[in-house]
Amino acid sequence: MSSSYDFVIVGAGIIGLTVAFELRKRHPSASIIILDKESDVGLHASGRNSGVLHSGIYYGNDTLKAKVCSAGAIRMRAFADEYGIACNRSGKVIIATSESDLHTIDRLLINASNNGISAQRMDEIAIQEIEPYATPYKAGIYCPDTAVIDSSSVVRRLYSLLKESGVSFGFDSAVIGFAEKTKSLKTVRGSYSYGYLFNCAGAHADRIAKLFGQGHDYTMIPFKGIYYKLRPEKNHLVRSNIYPVPDIKLPFLGVHLTRVINGDVFVGPTAIPAFGRENYGVLEGIELSEAVNISSELIKMYFNNVSNFRLLAHTEIRKYLKPWFVKSAQKLMRGLKSEDLVPSSKVGIRPQLVNVKTSSLEMDYIIEQTEDTLHVLNAISPAFTSSFAFSEWIVDQSGRV
Ligand SMILES: Cc1cc2nc3c(=O)[nH]c(=O)nc-3n(C[C@H](O)[C@H](O)[C@H](O)COP(=O)(O)OP(=O)(O)OC[C@H]3O[C@@H](n4cnc5c(N)ncnc54)[C@H](O)[C@@H]3O)c2cc1C
Repeated sequence: MSSSYDFVIVGAGIIGLTVAFELRKRHPSASIIILDKESDVGLHASGRNSGVLHSGIYYGNDTLKAKVCSAGAIRMRAFADEYGIACNRSGKVIIATSESDLHTIDRLLINASNNGISAQRMDEIAIQEIEPYATPYKAGIYCPDTAVIDSSSVVRRLYSLLKESGVSFGFDSAVIGFAEKTKSLKTVRGSYSYGYLFNCAGAHADRIAKLFGQGHDYTMIPFKGIYYKLRPEKNHLVRSNIYPVPDIKLPFLGVHLTRVINGDVFVGPTAIPAFGRENYGVLEGIELSEAVNISSELIKMYFNNVSNFRLLAHTEIRKYLKPWFVKSAQKLMRGLKSEDLVPSSKVGIRPQLVNVKTSSLEMDYIIEQTEDTLHVLNAISPAFTSSFAFSEWIVDQSGRV
């Protein structure tokens, strides 16, 4: 069975959905289908994240992330307002935990000023007026525009709006191949020929890109993000969001404390190297052949110390053990006790691209294109925040304006 569409999108995560949203605005009568291997929308990264709309302070003004993060947050907040989705502009503090962080604070404030982001340097006392239980080392930054949002409501609302606007969905339709002659995508449920194809397959986007001769400079390493929660009687310890000053050489922000929409406080996520793209449990989601490839890549990264990977591996793997996890949270709040934290079922995987030519972790979003296909690679955090603005940019790049 073969069907034909003007636009075929692979992936019903936030990027695939917002690309479809943008296409529908520009092409009211085009035929559009979103294919996903799962039976519903948003079952991977887009439904397993911290739900924080970031301000964009972490990114230098020469990056694509800087271009679309704060613009995306504004668009996402407007979308939430329009459709009655819970979104709380609760702000965030980023706190120094050691002397070496003070220099990074200056660097982040330069990013804020270059990117037109509202951010204020604060001393310990001013930070504690905002977050009384946080224990900064000397200083920190307050970002008033950071918000938390109910990310699964965003995904579900997009799904219903897209269906109402005539966008088709093909669930349980894993893409398994591509026939160049007929310009069609093979799935486990049939083939789809396309006028233009957007590959928004998240953790699997590099695999699909390779079917089209794209993405050859990259390999993908999954990093597992596990969370704990505060016991409900301890939720008062966190008013909004408390983040550490990050290591700006790495694409991860560090274990943080986030009060989500329903008032629960999540602590996490980790960035522990994982052995499969969907390795959410201990052994779940591990394919043997891929686990072997990932392991050999991890060993190479360890020995070559790619992007300071050795330190990352040492500090992150230990966080599987609760005492080490708690230690990382106590850097933000010295008074936190192990018994204040309870396990949470929330776990996500961050598919991180490694550039095999430069031996480095890719820090920015990457797209690659052929004449009639576009591949969104490395849609890592803050791609949820960025999504509306990022997808507008993606559709511009496709030339299908
Ligand atoms: C632990 C964690 C915390 C995060 N916190 C934040 C945050 O606070 N703020 C923020 O902005 N971002 C955050 N992020 C990042 C953000 O969630 C992701 O960048 C974003 O959701 C990526 O969206 P996506 O659509 O590219 O991928 P996904 O949501 O993973 O969607 C990809 C889709 O493609 C489908 N697919 C894959 N392969 C195939 C195939 N072969 N055939 C058909 N379908 C296929 C999958 O089933 C999936 O539905 C976080 C991520 C994680 C993991």
